[in-house]
Amino acid sequence: MRHVVADVRAKGQSIALVPTMGALHEGHLTLIDEAKNVADVVVMSIFVNPLQFAPSEDFARYPRTLDEDAKLASERGVDFLFTPTKEDVYPEHAPVVFVHPGSIGKEWEGAVRPHHFEGVLTIVAKLFNIVMPDVAVFGQKDLQQAAAVKAMVRDLNFPVGILVAPIVRDPDGLAMSSRNRYLSPRDRELGLILSRALFAMRDAFAKGERRASALEATGWRMLERVVGLTPRYLAAVNADTFQRVNNVRHGDAAVGAVRVGETKLIDNIIF
Ligand code: AMP
Repeated sequence: MRHVVADVRAKGQSIALVPTMGALHEGHLTLIDEAKNVADVVVMSIFVNPLQFAPSEDFARYPRTLDEDAKLASERGVDFLFTPTKEDVYPEHAPVVFVHPGSIGKEWEGAVRPHHFEGVLTIVAKLFNIVMPDVAVFGQKDLQQAAAVKAMVRDLNFPVGILVAPIVRDPDGLAMSSRNRYLSPRDRELGLILSRALFAMRDAFAKGERRASALEATGWRMLERVVGLTPRYLAAVNADTFQRVNNVRHGDAAVGAVRVGETKLIDNIIF
């Protein structure tokens, strides 16, 4: 990867990095489009990062479809695919030094998944140092992750611009996710309620409601009605700090997570 980067730099070309865990879908592929718009060369990384999974989570059964991914990525215009092994990335099994996400890492996804954002920021910092991109493209689908990465770049002075691309949804509204392939048709129907609850919050905001508690109640009522769906969190937050807000303003976000069967789904909207 370093040789590739040196060659690209020697030609005076710029680099955009699209970090992923593979099992690519249209949501990932639009990140490539964004990357191509802003840089000469697009590097996509595919690495299922063990550091961001808790022992109880789905690391072992996370979908791995590298051949298909390589085809999709190259068709969409990725110049270099970086697919290191676990041993390449963590030759000592686990790092001694980690990147700590601070207050952004404590709430919501961070509360449901302790150490998750520490694992995310540590691998993103490693990828930035290996690929040395001018720009990295992330998806709004993982808004808290994007906020944590932006804070890391700001606080640790990484010379990398961060772009956040909008959420790509299936026609019925479900946010695309590699984990959606775990869902049975019935679970998929249940999972859809999360996006509907978030859209209902956005509609209520558009009609003038500004109290976070009232907007959250609108969403919660929809989630709680559904048998077979376990809500994990639903909240109105500042999209940069991820602290809850009392009065919602344009640019704030509603973030939510539910469990259906064995699968956890997350989603968000920007007010
Ligand atoms: P993952 O492979 O799930 O770690 O995701 C890799 C990148 O793709 C992250 O920046 C995600 O936010 C982004 N991504 C995943 N799903 C979507 C989606 N439905 N729309 C937009 N971006 C997405």
